[in-house]
Amino acid sequence: MAYKFRCLKCGEITYSAASLEYQKNKNCHRCGGKIIQIYPPMKLGEILLQLDAITQEELEQALAIQRRMLTRAAIGKILLRLQLVGQSDLENALKIQREMMSGHSLQG
Ligand SMILES: [Zn+2]
Repeated sequence: MAYKFRCLKCGEITYSAASLEYQKNKNCHRCGGKIIQIYPPMKLGEILLQLDAITQEELEQALAIQRRMLTRAAIGKILLRLQLVGQSDLENALKIQREMMSGHSLQG
């Protein structure tokens, strides 16, 4: 299964047999912009991590809180409540997630 990446700056799509953490160059070969994995789709927390909007520690802190909740709130809401992520970073990540989902259904 191939991984699919997209440049956040110019939209260039690249494919690879390895996930982003094994890529030598984590920037776009065309414009040098940041690339993000769009297939397989990532969870919101992982997108925020890739965007450097939160740290691994902050994500784990929010996930721990989520696990203790009776009615699980969305991870984005928890991060917002803890003020670990800004509204604009969260909206940006949600937008990327929506694009991931739609790209997945269009191109299998
Ligand atoms: Zn680019």
